[in-house]
Amino acid sequence: MSNSNISLLENTAPQDSRPLTEPHPVVDRCQSIWQQFNLRTPRVAAYPDTVIPHSRYLRDVFSVVDNGDIDAILLTSERQSSSLEKFRSARGLFLVPVVNVSGKPCLAADVDFNLASPKSWVQTASCLSRYRDQRARLSSRFQSPTTPAVRMLAYLFVSGEDFVPIRQPNSPYYYVYRGFSNTASATMVAEALANKGWLERNFFDRYYKCDGCQSHRLTVREECPTCQSPQLSEADLIHHYSCAQLSPEAGFRRGTALICPKCSQQLRHYGKDYDKPGHVQLCGRCSNTTSEPSIGFLCQDCGMHVGGDAVSISDVFSYSLSHQANILLANDSEDANRFPIAQMRYLPEELQRRITELASLSGPAADFMLVEVQYGSREQVLKARGEINLISMRKLLADNLQGVLGDVASVYSSPEREYVLFPGRDVAGFTAYLREALDHAESVLSDKLNPTLLVLWGTREDALP
Ligand SMILES: [Zn+2]
Ligand SMILES: [Zn+2]
Ligand SMILES: [Zn+2]
Repeated sequence: MSNSNISLLENTAPQDSRPLTEPHPVVDRCQSIWQQFNLRTPRVAAYPDTVIPHSRYLRDVFSVVDNGDIDAILLTSERQSSSLEKFRSARGLFLVPVVNVSGKPCLAADVDFNLASPKSWVQTASCLSRYRDQRARLSSRFQSPTTPAVRMLAYLFVSGEDFVPIRQPNSPYYYVYRGFSNTASATMVAEALANKGWLERNFFDRYYKCDGCQSHRLTVREECPTCQSPQLSEADLIHHYSCAQLSPEAGFRRGTALICPKCSQQLRHYGKDYDKPGHVQLCGRCSNTTSEPSIGFLCQDCGMHVGGDAVSISDVFSYSLSHQANILLANDSEDANRFPIAQMRYLPEELQRRITELASLSGPAADFMLVEVQYGSREQVLKARGEINLISMRKLLADNLQGVLGDVASVYSSPEREYVLFPGRDVAGFTAYLREALDHAESVLSDKLNPTLLVLWGTREDALP
């Protein structure tokens, strides 16, 4: 497959027989596919090489441009696909598909395009038109995503597909997500979004995980319960009737004879002197025998050993946009300005009531901003001071904060964290004001809780997750 793009063309159109300016019939057929899908000649940004080798026909099928309105990324080599994310990020190209013309399979690509395969032209056209249609539906608030979480939501929306793990033995996690080369951070972002009701989880697979380096590349084996060596071999047991000695056959074996290691009698007749009641596992390292070997895992990345009863489990999910996320992301819905109901159940009851009240109003009166306060040092304080102290510190902080905020905004507490509700739009930079108020409120505490702010709801794009 690797060079079929080129070889097909080189075979059917020898360079010297055809003037450079004359288009190849394949180009015309591709162009007619674009037209069937109502596409213009796709404007593409080439990555990583802007010089596409042997690309004179590809350059007729796609229009390679440097900037402006871009329909797709043309992946010209699969080798640098890991830094594709940086390229997309720098160029703001998260909402267009990646078309792989490298001729090699690449997990980062949405679709493979091959000049020799008319089927791939149709697939590419279909992918491009799906992205285009979804981009048109995407609310303007998400058109230039800035945070990783918003980027993920917007990407899932325009791709029109679920966030599905792809099996990848080269990855220490054994899976990757398309479009996100850092599996650990993509998983973390998706989990946080799922916890907040923006994504829905579907179980994909269960892995065992190394606690040392988080890798899923563990080998599992039966091993000696005494020394953990997997070098076990099966040995027949011999039972000497007259003295009741029971041990592996090797202990009786003297050349061709069987001599009892306990009473030194020779065993001659199977069934009369002795029998073989079963077998055991004999450890080649410490020579212990066991009838119940233990299960152990060995990390292939860092070499850490962990017993079967202590190994950590890592469940992996595919994710789909929740109904509420779809409503919020699409600009064609009347509900776009409603607070997502799925999130409500995480909030303190009194706050839920207040939000329902605000939502029933109309016009600017219905605007509000909801900020979650999380504590960066929660675990440390919990460890050093205990839960009772943490609770009273939080209570003190919340009271102080409410004191500083006065009538401007209200503080609500759940068992886990605090919430601040600000009625109105963030025109006067409420978040900056809140940050200052929070620092002030924290200054009287004996320990630092390191509060961080997460805007759950507001009227601007950065107010989203
Ligand atoms: Zn004996
Ligand atoms: Zn052993
Ligand atoms: Zn490890």
